[in-house]
Amino acid sequence: MQSPILIVEDEKTIADTIIYRLETDGFSVVWVSTGTEALVKLADHSPSLIILDIGLPDINGLELCKTIRLKSNVPIIFLTARTEEIDRVVGLELGADDYLSKPFSPRELSARVRAVLRRSGTVAAEPIAAESMAFLTVDESRKCVSCKGVDIDLARQEFRILCALIARPKQVFSREQLMESAWDEPGFCTDRAVDAHIKSIRSKLRIVTDQECIVTHRGFGYSFQEPSA
Ligand code: CA
Repeated sequence: MQSPILIVEDEKTIADTIIYRLETDGFSVVWVSTGTEALVKLADHSPSLIILDIGLPDINGLELCKTIRLKSNVPIIFLTARTEEIDRVVGLELGADDYLSKPFSPRELSARVRAVLRRSGTVAAEPIAAESMAFLTVDESRKCVSCKGVDIDLARQEFRILCALIARPKQVFSREQLMESAWDEPGFCTDRAVDAHIKSIRSKLRIVTDQECIVTHRGFGYSFQEPSA
């Protein structure tokens, strides 16, 4: 099991967005809203990476980083709200691995997390599916989903949609949620486009298996369910 990513962010709405994105992308996460809790979780969970907001209620994120660095080389990505903070992150050479200024795109953050983990030599996070599912396996490095060992030839959006579904088995995703997962600019996409991609994914799956794993929930959306053997 991959070590979790520790999110230190006091604004719940921002934390929720990050958690949703990272979990959808197959990471496990632990969230805290203060620096004090962060130090406790750092000891308890030995996270693979920390996403650290600079503006915390009890301690400045930059100070917290110094404290963390006394005991750990865990990669850190800073979240900053102000440009002068960026100057300090860069100038002080605190050992930050990357930073993003708010507002940021959750997809961008997820990509940075993956890149930092790769650079730091931590094994790139395995999507949950790779461990828990025998039926479908996601290979993030090859951007490929295979079914019982046979690669399924998916287009980019199809891959992203299927990964989002697989990452949370049985959870019903609305079309909007799937758009958010799969499109760089979800606003330019329609419900019908999601339906069309689902239809295409199903027909591609049918080439390798006669078992149905994407369930339609009328009026709601779609979910992934592992077929019973
Ligand atoms: Ca904050």
